[in-house]
This record gives sequence, structure tokens and C-alpha cells, in this order.
Amino acid sequence: MSSARLPSIDRLLRSPACDPLARRYGRNALLDTLRDLLDELREPARHGRLDAIELSEAVLAGRAGERLAARHGSRVRRVFNLTGTVLHTNLGRALLPEPAIEAITQAARHPLNLEFDLATGKRGDRDDLIAGLVCELTGAEAVTVVNNNAAAVLLALNSLGARREGVISRGELIEIGGAFRIPDIMARAGVKLVEVGTTNRTHAKDYQAAIGPRTGLLMRVHTSNYSVQGFTASVATADLAKLAHAHGLPLLEDLGSGTLVDLTRWGLPAEPTVQQALRDGADLVTFSGDKLLGGPQCGIIVGKRELIERIKKNPLKRALRVDKLTLAALEAVLGLYRDPDRLGERLTTLRLLARPQDDIRRQAERLAPALAARLGERWQATAGEALGMIGSGAQPVARLASAALCLRPLQPKRLRGRALRHLEEALRTLPIPVIGRIDDDALWLDLRQLDDEAAFLAQLEQLEVAAP
Ligand SMILES: *Cc1c(COP(=O)(O)O)cnc(C)c1O
Repeated sequence: MSSARLPSIDRLLRSPACDPLARRYGRNALLDTLRDLLDELREPARHGRLDAIELSEAVLAGRAGERLAARHGSRVRRVFNLTGTVLHTNLGRALLPEPAIEAITQAARHPLNLEFDLATGKRGDRDDLIAGLVCELTGAEAVTVVNNNAAAVLLALNSLGARREGVISRGELIEIGGAFRIPDIMARAGVKLVEVGTTNRTHAKDYQAAIGPRTGLLMRVHTSNYSVQGFTASVATADLAKLAHAHGLPLLEDLGSGTLVDLTRWGLPAEPTVQQALRDGADLVTFSGDKLLGGPQCGIIVGKRELIERIKKNPLKRALRVDKLTLAALEAVLGLYRDPDRLGERLTTLRLLARPQDDIRRQAERLAPALAARLGERWQATAGEALGMIGSGAQPVARLASAALCLRPLQPKRLRGRALRHLEEALRTLPIPVIGRIDDDALWLDLRQLDDEAAFLAQLEQLEVAAP
């Protein structure tokens, strides 16, 4: 190998190979990157370990370009969610329908009447942009929207029960996603937790016995992310509402996911609706925007006008309010609920949840040969049945009958774990990362959510799985 000298930084900067980089990333960023690169190469070059090609302007510019792209590239990356969990909190939950995406773009690009009443020319209230629609769809008297459902619960508790007691069943003291625990939220809201009943059974008389002069509210939480089976009892919303109202107290119901339609119509498990909770007498109902509703991240509080007014006067509401993009998307999503007959095609979340297993299976059968060809003889790639889930705590026990690409290592048993990890990593580091699930000595790619088949196939040729 013939040794070569390091080019000077000035020569590199002026070279035609570096010119496009300077224009794209700016001269300063390019200079820093080239300086780092040359510093690293100085030692090996001095010892004659690098040849002329490795130190050519074209190769050095190429390496600088890779580094700049990695450093300046977006950290927010699109991925393929092939985990089988549709509302995956770590992968961004609900995918928005097209009208909501358009609404966000418009709201981002132009000024809008966020807090401006176009009828009077006076200052408006941002909640009014969606109030009519929410009340029409849910039957609520009033509504307010905040950053997420955790914020909605915090704000409702603080507005109704600060310095007073909140009565809740021991069976409903849930934790969601680690950082959200009902007892902690109550404490932060300034509400003294009074737990009644037992983990598996709570009766109306338990609540009755706990109500006293310091009681501020009764609370009911939909135990969305786990299920208690067997010898169980809980008090229905309607009965709890009667009890609360007999004592002049409000009932707050946290539905978690909540939905505005009967999901059984699309073959999905029944989930309590916001309308029913209100009809049953809950005074305030809280639910998420980006779970089953299929909209943007937000927390929606609906209920009695007088209570919503109290919430809106709470300074915390100002701290937890939503932005214009969220409201624009939310209005568009809610608009789709006006036509339930077409909701199954138009609301992306619902379309994905209700996608027929046969359709997914055909897709898996179509794609399996391409994966088998790419992975070679050390792997078996077949179409198989899979069980997915809704996710985000909704219906934790229910499974969605689905189909998947099942990628199984054919190596000796002791190497299979490592082979699977290598495959998982290779998929995760593709230009559009593919996120699957390892289970039963195989990597599963549940295809329920694979809409862009062409993009998935196009990048397969870049899939390189290290040998275990
Ligand atoms: C998901 C959930 C929450 C939290 O909602 P986010 O929108 O994630 O903040 C609160 N309560 C229940 C019952 C839930 O299921």
C-alpha cells in the first residue's frame, strides 16, 4: 500500500466534491465535520496506513456527507408499526385521517380564528371551535379540551375536589404507562384520596359509608388496561351517579379511551361510550383524543355546563390548553362521526382495527416469498396467523385476529436468539425502520397496519442480517 498525504482543509473546502455539502448544510457545519474527519485520519496517514483513494477529495467528501446527514437528519422518523398493536403509545398512537391532516396543514400555514369570534369581531374562546360538534355528538352541555387525558383528569380533580376528599373504589386505583397513577394524580390535584371496597368487589354501601362533610366528589375510572375476572362487583355509573346526586356531589368518570360509537358494529369488542356515561348521570367524563377516538393527542372533558365553567376558570387550564393544530385536527376527526355509516372507511384508526383477517392474510402470502428470497436459506419466512391488540389500554384482554410474516431462524437452537436479535436490529435500522415483535422463537411482522407495501418492498434489498 502506498502512503498518501492528508489534503489541507482549505483545499477540501474549495473542492467541487464538498461544494454541494456547503450549500446544503452551511459552511460552518461542513468545516467542523471536515476538521474532525482530518483529525481522526492524521495518525493513520502519518504511519502510511492510508492510500491515495482513501484520502481523495471524493472519498473524504463522501464521508463528511454521511456524517452531516446523520447529524442534521430528522430525529423524528416515520416507522412501520408491524407490532400488531394498533394504538401503540411508543409509536405515536392514532394515525390521523386525511381531512385532519389537511386541517393541520391549513392551520399551520395560515392565521386562523383560534380565539377570535368572527361574528362579533371580539375575543373568542378556543374551546368554542369544537364545542358545538362535541355537544351534538355526545349530548353534553359543555366541553373543554386539554393536552391529554392525564391532564384532563388532573384538571377535573383539581377543579372539583381541591382540599376535599375524592372517593374511589380500590379496584380502580390504576396505573397507566408508568407515570400516571390515580393516587399520585389525586395527590397532585390536591384531592385527598378516600379508597373504598376491595380490589375485586366494591358495593354502593362502601361509597355511602365514605361520604362525609369533607367529600368533594365521587370518581369512577374505567379499568382500561387490565381486567379483574371471577368473583367481582363494581357499582354501575347510573347507581353511583344517583348516590352522588343524593348527597349533592358530582360524579367524575374517567373513561380512558372512550369512544363515540358502538364498536361492535365493526366486529370489535364493546367499549363504553361517552354518550352512555353522560346518560347514566356522570357529571364530567374525561377521555383521550388519540386512543379509540382516532384523533390528535388531547384530553376531552365533557359534562355539566356549570362544572365545565369552573374548570375553565382554573389557572391550570391555561397551562394545559391545546394548540391550534390539535384543535384543527380534532374538529376534522369529529366531523367524520357525523356520518357513522362511512366512519369505517374514513376514520383511519377504525379502518385499521376493523381490517378483515382474510385481507391481511392475503397480503402476508403475497409478501412472504420476497422475504424468504432476501433472508436466504438460514431463515424460514412464511405467512401465519397472529393475534394483535387495540393498544393504549383499550380492551387489554381482547385480541384482534390478524396475519403476519413469521420469520424463523433455521440455525441450531443455541444461535437462534442471537439471529433473531440481529434480524430485529437489521429491520429497525432500515431507512424506514420496521418494528415487529419477537415471540415463540420467531420474529413476527403483523401486517394489519402495512398500508405502503411498495415502500416496504423497495427497501428490502437494503436488509442485511449479520450472521449470528
Ligand atoms: C389512557 C388513559 C389515561 C391517560 O390518557 P392520556 O391521553 O394517555 O394522557 C387516563 N385514564 C385512563 C383510564 C386511560 O385509559
